[in-house]
Amino acid sequence: MNLSAPKGVAVIGGGWAGLAAAVKASQLGYQITLFEMAPHLGGRARSLAPTDTGPRLDNGQHILIGAYQASLSLLETVGVELSQSFLRMPLRLRYPHHEGLHLPPGPPLLSFVRGILAYRAWPLAARLSLLLTATGWLLRRFDCASTLSVSTLTAGLPAIVRQELIEPLCVAALNTPADQASAKVFLRVLCDALFSGRGSADLLLPKLPLSALLAEPAAVWLSARGVDIRLNTRVQVLAQCSGGWCVDGQAFEQVLLACSSAQAASLCAEIAPAWALQAGSLHYQPIVTVYVNSPGSRLPAAMVALQEGDGSPAQFAFDLGQLGHAPGLFAFVVSGAASWVERGLAATGEAALRQALAEFSWNTPPQVHRVLAEKRATFACTPGLQRPPASIKPELWAAGDYVDGPYPATLEGAVRSGFRAANNLGPV
Ligand SMILES: Cc1cc2nc3c(=O)[nH]c(=O)nc-3n(C[C@H](O)[C@H](O)[C@H](O)COP(=O)(O)OP(=O)(O)OC[C@H]3O[C@@H](n4cnc5c(N)ncnc54)[C@H](O)[C@@H]3O)c2cc1C
Repeated sequence: MNLSAPKGVAVIGGGWAGLAAAVKASQLGYQITLFEMAPHLGGRARSLAPTDTGPRLDNGQHILIGAYQASLSLLETVGVELSQSFLRMPLRLRYPHHEGLHLPPGPPLLSFVRGILAYRAWPLAARLSLLLTATGWLLRRFDCASTLSVSTLTAGLPAIVRQELIEPLCVAALNTPADQASAKVFLRVLCDALFSGRGSADLLLPKLPLSALLAEPAAVWLSARGVDIRLNTRVQVLAQCSGGWCVDGQAFEQVLLACSSAQAASLCAEIAPAWALQAGSLHYQPIVTVYVNSPGSRLPAAMVALQEGDGSPAQFAFDLGQLGHAPGLFAFVVSGAASWVERGLAATGEAALRQALAEFSWNTPPQVHRVLAEKRATFACTPGLQRPPASIKPELWAAGDYVDGPYPATLEGAVRSGFRAANNLGPV
């Protein structure tokens, strides 16, 4: 055991929350040690190890929106050129066989109204019903009872609006089916998309593999500022010690716990049992990504919404060629995928392939390249969910997408909580 006086700040976990916390704490002048149990940084938003034979795959396709100000500011801080790194476009839900709803460029609220009114694929009554309902949300400041589900909130809307807009947006933003998803959190994301200024509803699709987007530039940035990054180092014991916290026997003045909720719960089981119980009782939703390859083929857009159904698992398909990093490779994303994980990955891959054949025309026969399942992709963002607070004990702070906050499990939720935890450290 190292018995020297506590020194500096330990950040435990090198996902987007831990990286945000380390960057902010380093900017504040703290001496940081970052522990990450994996051989790489990035957590649940990372690229897999490169192979000799194929393109570098991500653990799952990620999308951001223009309202994700904290994430975009983190990327800029570590030197990422945003205009080069994303395909940015006004919100558009393109379907395989029709153009789908899209919001024209401009101030978000105005573009929402214009986009809805101009969308003739829906009967006028459906468009007016959505605008009227959205006006009600606006008047109630996009807030509602925490016990409401998205399905209940939107029950009065015509079926076509629920199926083509609400349900895909809900599963994309909350990774939770509308009948189980928190209406309060859904409204918060919608509010930020419509009211955080010009471009806040834009979709941002990464043009780089995820690790090249944040983990790698952040590692360079942090190393250049003297941050001690310890990969392959799983923290086993967190204990109070005189003047601070011991992380596997090494003493630190303060700790930012930025690992997954399950790991955080286990590390805090004895030091903060009530907090650990709350963190450990969150339920998780899986996401499955079916990578399909078909050299020479192209989807009608970089991102296409799909109608999921009993035999059709995916809600979105992405053309990685149009995103500039893997021509001929396509990601079919199955969010809220619990029932598909039960059926098995091979069956999910085959079903996604059948869906791909039914929905698109291909220049060469598509084949399943790889099926990836993240079984604990995001916490289930259900009505009335109590999430653990950021403050665990004096000088011990939690960061992570699951920590109490307005956002669902997203990159933005993770980054905001990382910044917030670092700001809690106080002056150096
Ligand atoms: C397939 C998939 C698709 C997604 N799509 C989107 C999307 O489109 N848009 C969006 O905004 N979000 C999306 N998300 C959610 C987003 O990825 C997460 O919200 C975010 O990455 C969570 O970051 P985090 O830092 O809170 O947690 P994590 O990424 O889980 O980071 C925790 C880190 O702690 C490390 N760790 C754990 N225990 C220890 C220990 N004892 N010692 C040391 N290190 C430890 C882990 O290895 C990990 O690196 C998606 C997630 C998945 C899985």
